[in-house]
Parts: sequence; C-alpha cells; structure tokens
Amino acid sequence: MYAIGIDVGGTKIAAGLVNPNGEILHRFTHRAHAEQEPAVVIDAIEAAYRAVVRQSGVNPERIRGVGLGFPGNTNGPAGVVLVCSNLPAWNHIPLRDIVAGRIGRPVILDNDTNLCAVGEHRYGAGRGAKNMVYVTFSTGYGIGIIINNRLYVGHTGTAGELGHVVITVDDGPPCTCGKNGCVMAYASGIGLSRMAYQAIDSGADTSLREVAAPDRRRISGEQIAAAAQQGDTVAANILHTAAGYGGVGLSMVVQILNPERIVLGGGLTRIGAPLWEPMQAAMRRHTQPELWDSVQVVPWQLGDDIGILGAAAKVFSDTEQ
Ligand SMILES: [Zn+2]
Repeated sequence: MYAIGIDVGGTKIAAGLVNPNGEILHRFTHRAHAEQEPAVVIDAIEAAYRAVVRQSGVNPERIRGVGLGFPGNTNGPAGVVLVCSNLPAWNHIPLRDIVAGRIGRPVILDNDTNLCAVGEHRYGAGRGAKNMVYVTFSTGYGIGIIINNRLYVGHTGTAGELGHVVITVDDGPPCTCGKNGCVMAYASGIGLSRMAYQAIDSGADTSLREVAAPDRRRISGEQIAAAAQQGDTVAANILHTAAGYGGVGLSMVVQILNPERIVLGGGLTRIGAPLWEPMQAAMRRHTQPELWDSVQVVPWQLGDDIGILGAAAKVFSDTEQ
C-alpha cells in the first residue's frame, strides 16, 4: 500500500508516492502554487497526482489515499479551505471533495503545518513522543499539535495559529492577517524583512540597504544572517529580535500545552546558532523553570521532504484507526 502526499506551497506544488516506511519513491513538482486561483491549483493537483501514478506504474487501487497539505486556514475534518493567499476565491472551497471527485481516490486535507507535525511524529524527530508540538519558523510562524499521538485541530480545524497571537497591547507592527503586533510580525521571514525595511527607512547604517528593492521584495533571512555575520549590528539586532519573539512563542507552547517534545523546523532554522541560541534563551527566560525542565527542543529531521511526508503520514495514520 502507498499514499501520495501533495504539498501545495507558496512557490510550487510538490507531490510524492510514499510507502508506509516514509520513503518517497517517486516525485513530481508542478509550477502552480497556492497564490493562484482555485481552478488553476485544482488542475495542477490533479496533474501532479496523475504524473506520480504514471511515473511509478502503481495501480491506483494500491494507493490508500492522497494527503493534501495547504497553507492558510483549513477545516481539515470538513475538508474545506477557509482562507488562503488573501484570494477571496479560496474562501470556503471544499477542496478535499473536489479533488477526490477528480481523481477517484480518498483524499484528506489539512493545514500544511498540522501535517508537518504528523510527519515529524511518525517519521522524524517526534517519534515516540505522545505529546509533541511542531513549530515552523519559515516565511510564517505556526504550530501543529499532537496530543495523545493524535493531531489536535480544535473545534473548526484552526488550532495552532500561534503566529497570529497578538503580543503587543498597542501599536504593534501590521501583520499579514490584518491585525497588529502578532508573533509572526516579528518571528518569521515576513517579520525579518519588515524589520529590515523599517531600519532602512529610518536611515540606519546597514549593509541591508544594498539588498533592498524599490518594490520591497522580501529581504531573506539568509541575507540578514549573512550581514549579521559580517558585523552589521543592525542586521544582528533584527535577527535577535525575531529569535526573541520566536522564543516567546515557544514559551507559550510550553506554558499552555506542556508537551514532552518540541520539534523546531522550517527554512529559517538553517541559520543555525545565531537564531537558535537567542531563541532558546528567550524561551527559558519566559517559561517557569519547572516547565522548561520537562520539555526537549529538537530540530526537525524531514527537512524539505516534510510537506510530502506529512501529508502521506496523515493518510496512513487516519486509515489505521
Ligand atoms: Zn497576524
């Protein structure tokens, strides 16, 4: 038996045929992405599914199901996308049933970070932990929650929106969700770039000016980390601020959920020690000692395959129950 995991991301759609051991046997990448209209994305999902089936030569009857990981808010149990990409056309689209109708196989849908949590729990750094939280520190900031070995999604599927918890009382910076002062307005790729442009606009003496663009194209975490490494104190402070708020987020996870393990992943974690160290320091500073003593914080293990493996892992775990 196999599962197909399909990760609908912000720049591409990645699909893979996965066996129960968590090995990706065949892959296909489509250039469509989640910032496009539903009709385009639905066609691309179907094309990616058919390409993987064709490449592998597997009889579709042996595919237990297709897992779809989606950015934005989803109601996984209902199979519905609630909000995505600030494109109104996505609101309340019953994507699971539309795709299932196209391909004739069972489909599960969930938020991408939730599925990453399932993937790390089944195949990665979360193995063996009954209560685990996956934290993604990438373009955005969010968590997926495993309680008693099961994904916890809440009443309407949107549990884990830690990135959009407001941590400033007044006048916080704008967030992509429309509120002000969310964790993600600092602790994310979007937050890092925002703080970089804010420093540039205020006339700060920083080499980040050289990578800024008139269209305010995002300045990446890697660019900010590289500037910090070369002694740019403005860049170092921005990194420190993002890491500090990321650590505040981790402390909230520990204070509220008391997990056994936190798995920290996402592209920004590749910055390494300049991000990890201040983040862990902030987490400790803001967490009661008897609580942080009880939790391990470990890096992810699935890396760039996490989206495909997480979506497939959810198919396997759902069909085992
Ligand atoms: Zn927000």
